Amino acid sequence: MKVPFLDLSLQHCALRQAALAALAATYDANRFCLGRDVEDFERAFAANLGYPAVLGMNSGTSPLHVACLLASFGPGDEVITSPFTFISSAWGISYVRATPVFADIEEGGFNLDPDRLAAAITPRTRGIVVVHLFGQPARMDEILAVARRHGLFVIEDCAQAVGARYWDTPVGLLGDAGTFSFYPTKNLGACGEAGAFVARDPALLTRARYVRVHGSDRRYQHNIIGGNFRMDGFQGALLNVKLPHLAAWTARRQAIAARYREEIRLSDTRLPVPEAHGASVFHQFTLLHPRRDQLREHLARLEVGTDLIYPRPLHLQPCYAPLGHGPGSFPRAERAAETCLSLPIFPELTDAQVEHVIRSVNAF
Ligand SMILES: *Cc1c(COP(=O)(O)O)cnc(C)c1O
Repeated sequence: MKVPFLDLSLQHCALRQAALAALAATYDANRFCLGRDVEDFERAFAANLGYPAVLGMNSGTSPLHVACLLASFGPGDEVITSPFTFISSAWGISYVRATPVFADIEEGGFNLDPDRLAAAITPRTRGIVVVHLFGQPARMDEILAVARRHGLFVIEDCAQAVGARYWDTPVGLLGDAGTFSFYPTKNLGACGEAGAFVARDPALLTRARYVRVHGSDRRYQHNIIGGNFRMDGFQGALLNVKLPHLAAWTARRQAIAARYREEIRLSDTRLPVPEAHGASVFHQFTLLHPRRDQLREHLARLEVGTDLIYPRPLHLQPCYAPLGHGPGSFPRAERAAETCLSLPIFPELTDAQVEHVIRSVNAF
């Protein structure tokens, strides 16, 4: 039985008629940059997931950039983030010419370790980019305690955690700014590039709204330095078609994860552990195994697709070589990169496919 790592065509086939009708309406109304479809999406996303307001943007990288601009990070400032994440988590810091400082992940998890975070603070530290990796909310109480002690601006990278809550609070509202990605492979995926920005503080949200459109509150008046971070109208229209399905898709991801957790029996394997502070929305189901490459080959022979997310931590990426880190700088992130293996977990997987994945892993 074939189990692809991810197959977007199933979801897009099922929604084809509704999606194409929505796109046609947007086309006919010429609503291409922001406009009513994006506004409808912003309102629905906010109401659905518990945000005071949401700003649609043109990727998940853009709101990270915007958040770093609004935090006024700049040259000489240090901003701490995880070395085990997608590269974008660090891009905003680099775009404003601040310095990304890495702090290792927790033992037994994939998120920033609050103790390592505290140890990475220097007099130059200005902020933190926390990532809720794979959909699992990070230890925000401990992280925010460190941030408060040092007056730091906290950005939550929620690209993989749409719909997740930390206790009762939707992710993105715990720190100063929260960012989302609707890249097609994310839990809520557009059919192109899209993302979003959230914040608790209405004044910050207003400034983000201006930055999104060239620093403008009206045409040809530019009060602050901004850019073009607008969400595309077609993406807003598609996201409006998809958003009503998000809760069911998340529940399905969680049900598949529960089966993996209960039924995978393979010695020396570390499976994701449920956290009392907030359930994962399982953007990925990632296990650690000391013979990861052999396990991956074994699964490939049984037609089970897998992926390595992420095979190289940020501090060992060529672009960050000037920071001077080497192997051994962040041993937990490096061990995760060397032993991680992500299993198929998209909502359209059938029970038979889930069973095949479990049986195949257990047969290793
Ligand atoms: C996908 C992702 C981003 C960037 O989103 P894009 O829409 O691809 O720009 C940022 N951070 C994390 C953790 C991501 O997974």
